[in-house]
Amino acid sequence: MSISENLADIKMKISESAKKTNRALDDITLIGVTKTIDTGRISELLDLGVSNLGENRVQELLEKYDVLGERPIWHLIGHLQTNKVKYIVEKVDLIHSVDSIRLAEEINKRCFAIKKVMDILIEVNIAQEESKEGIAPNKVLEFYQELRNFSNIRVKGLMTVAPFVEDAEENRESFSKMRKLLIDIMNEKGNNKDIRLLSMGMTNDYQVAIEEGSNMVRIGTGIFGKR
Ligand SMILES: *Cc1c(COP(=O)(O)O)cnc(C)c1O
Repeated sequence: MSISENLADIKMKISESAKKTNRALDDITLIGVTKTIDTGRISELLDLGVSNLGENRVQELLEKYDVLGERPIWHLIGHLQTNKVKYIVEKVDLIHSVDSIRLAEEINKRCFAIKKVMDILIEVNIAQEESKEGIAPNKVLEFYQELRNFSNIRVKGLMTVAPFVEDAEENRESFSKMRKLLIDIMNEKGNNKDIRLLSMGMTNDYQVAIEEGSNMVRIGTGIFGKR
């Protein structure tokens, strides 16, 4: 299947799931995950109107940025090492993977220097998997409160990489817990009104994720085929 056929299919499914929860298609942002995909094929996707791209490695993002520049909206979706922050702060629009105060401090410092307020998501290890990055669910509120001290960081919501499962239904409860966590944060006194993003759902489970409140899905394989 071609990129455009795959995309048409995904859009149809996103729209189906959105309808189930009475939401409009344009309430949900599709991020094309382009790790390992060359810039030629990425350009095809951009031409088809998908302008949000997700990369999970800094080096790869930088190489592609050299070619594609600011045409895409860049999302850093993978683990971010503190010593790499300086390379990307000017280039990315949203960092999905903030999972430590040390990392937040570094983002804040680098953004202060270039007079930018960086939009970020808190990564949550929703199923408390040992192998996964992310803040434990019961620590999210406390972590969010600490982040509010940083002038050059704006928390926009939460992100998770749900467990790899055979049947997407197995992740429904995790997605539902994520939505509840988002609501907890939204209800915090004096919070910024910007909090509304729930980045969850990948090729295998994005429909269930949307049904449970996701408004940002990150899809790679479904668009480009197996890596
Ligand atoms: C690779 C990746 C995705 C996309 O996964 P697919 O199963 O290929 O859709 C989404 N989010 C993150 C953080 C990833 O690393």
